[in-house]
Amino acid sequence: MSEKGFPLKVRFPCPECGRGDEARLPTSKTWQCRFCDALVTFSPSIDRGLSHCMVCGNHELYKKKNFPHWLGLTILTLACLTFLWAHWKYDPWTAWAILLVSAAFDGLFYLWVGDAIVCYRCGAQFLGFTAGPCHLPFELTVAERYRQERLRREQLQSDAKSGS
Ligand SMILES: [Zn+2]
Ligand SMILES: [Zn+2]
Repeated sequence: MSEKGFPLKVRFPCPECGRGDEARLPTSKTWQCRFCDALVTFSPSIDRGLSHCMVCGNHELYKKKNFPHWLGLTILTLACLTFLWAHWKYDPWTAWAILLVSAAFDGLFYLWVGDAIVCYRCGAQFLGFTAGPCHLPFELTVAERYRQERLRREQLQSDAKSGS
């Protein structure tokens, strides 16, 4: 993969209001929320190995395929429908050809889209980075730990608000 070919992008929810947005890296050094004016400064160490989250600085990241689930399902559904339709037309060869081609297309597309690296803590998704050995697939136990942490933090915040 060339350095220039893939634009580096980050997609993340605003830390203040939670609305999603995306920014281009490394052209943007900071990002400002369009809705609540919250400001995020990206941590500057940009390498393609991405060792920490550039939005919140967290070190635990996981990789996932940047492949939209609905797309895979749509391709599959369409392929099945055409398969049935071709069978109904007494054309089993076309039917099988369609099924095989769409399966191959699905597989190729899956390989082509590459990885997204996701932060466990803030949910930022980094696109166009190369996943390294420190990026493991998603682990539910780690995600659960961060979810608990988030809930505790929200609890503390609402306690502080109601207390004052
Ligand atoms: Zn915001
Ligand atoms: Zn993060």
